[in-house]
Amino acid sequence: MSTKANLNIENTPIDLFIGGSWIHASSGNRIDVFNPSNEQRLASVADADEKDARAAVDAAEKAAPGWAATSPRKRSEVLSRCYELMVSDAENLAALISLENGKAISDARGEVAYAAEFFRWYAEEAVRINGEISISPSGLARTLVQYQPVGISLLITPWNFPAAMATRKIGPALAAGCTCILKPATETPLTAYAIAALLKKAGVPDGVVNVLTTSRSGKVCGSILEDPRVRKLSFTGSTEVGRILLRKAADSIINCSMELGGNAPFIVFEDADLDQAIEGAMIAKMRNGGEACTAANRFYVQRALVDEFTSRLASRMGALIVDDGVNTGTQCGPLVNRGAVNKVASLVDDAVAKGARVVTGGKAPERAGFFYLPTVLADVSPDAELLNEEIFGPVAPVVAFDTEAEAIRLANSTEYGLVAYVYTKDLARGMRVSEAIESGMIALNRGLVSDPAAPFGGVKQSGLGREGAHHGLLEFMEAKYISTNW
Ligand code: NAP
Repeated sequence: MSTKANLNIENTPIDLFIGGSWIHASSGNRIDVFNPSNEQRLASVADADEKDARAAVDAAEKAAPGWAATSPRKRSEVLSRCYELMVSDAENLAALISLENGKAISDARGEVAYAAEFFRWYAEEAVRINGEISISPSGLARTLVQYQPVGISLLITPWNFPAAMATRKIGPALAAGCTCILKPATETPLTAYAIAALLKKAGVPDGVVNVLTTSRSGKVCGSILEDPRVRKLSFTGSTEVGRILLRKAADSIINCSMELGGNAPFIVFEDADLDQAIEGAMIAKMRNGGEACTAANRFYVQRALVDEFTSRLASRMGALIVDDGVNTGTQCGPLVNRGAVNKVASLVDDAVAKGARVVTGGKAPERAGFFYLPTVLADVSPDAELLNEEIFGPVAPVVAFDTEAEAIRLANSTEYGLVAYVYTKDLARGMRVSEAIESGMIALNRGLVSDPAAPFGGVKQSGLGREGAHHGLLEFMEAKYISTNW
């Protein structure tokens, strides 16, 4: 029998976090937050306007010199405390994520562990900010390169990983010595405020991290980007919104890191270990119920294996327990909102109208909540929309291919380039195909790439810059070169 993860939601902060204090929005307006598992209202959070945004930038500006001057060791120790507090409060945070996002509690626990690792990793990176020194080729000057914090940073995050996308930005920003304003997604503000409370408890000084929720993201973030004191935008979200923000950032020539959408191919060659490929497919497709930028979006399987792969994947997908995210037995929770269900349903309907066969799922179950059944589609036509768009749901379209060249061509036939999954026992083929695929990341015989110690990011329309690893720290730093002679 399944039980529910417990959480007393009354303890979760719901007001703006500015200068270390919890503040009502100046308009007095609130935004309702809903539980996708039952469509009930969970809480209502403050709705910031441009005046609140200015107050957040004021607070970040006031805290900036002190934080930049704080020793790397002290910044590292504060980040270590953030890590420890997040690990010790993991169960509450996971329940909160599951309540507001809908994801299965097991996925939420995985997210908290992943999110906490960014604090740990950047606690370690804070004391590894090295410079460079060289002699100019003429021998007439010494070249010193020093890395300095880029400055006040606007961090905008999506709803699909409300904790991990926040810590993946806050961790390196703090390690680098930057102060920041976090603008979480409207669907999942409670996790962001819970993280703010944790940062305060860990000793992050007032004003170093500020959090704003708003129902008018464009206007409020626009006003922050127009403020000449703000020097950095780190955005994770859709390619469409990323484009709008890059245009806005152009006016102030703001340093931008953009983690955008994906359309990951999952390629299975006929020499692959099929057991491993099925396990990997379940992770790559069903982590977070398919609501991940790294989610396998298109399954390309070499013709000799395609029938067996499809039927085995369908039996695994069809057996998943679909239920309220906080129930302990749940393996697939609801999608985030009604719009997401409608989008997934219309993509499946389009594929079916163009000849696809539903092997399992293919519909929303009749119950309250934003659910869609795990679905496998076979014989998907190349012009089906779901091969070209992010599905962002529990749907696996399978397409047969014949040759390695065809697999590479199909994988690259997208404007996106975030991640690709490749299964083969032939190492030379694996490396050859990995090099030929246009994407920032490759999972070779694995269903997961996310790792705080690795540079996460995409090419083409999937983004600019990298998060995680030392690369993620440098996104929040500027190189300063000093030319001298002695
Ligand atoms: P989204 O609609 O682009 O929203 C992302 C964030 O941007 C939210 O906080 C949103 O606030 C805000 N926003 C929306 N319009 C804005 C505007 N005009 N100006 C400033 N901010 C604005 O994306 P989403 O639906 O939350 O997340 C799903 C997308 O994120 C998918 O495309 C997924 O692939 C991508 N993603 C990418 C990565 C990666 O690392 N590459 C990781 C996770 C997710 P509101 O909620 O108020 O609209």
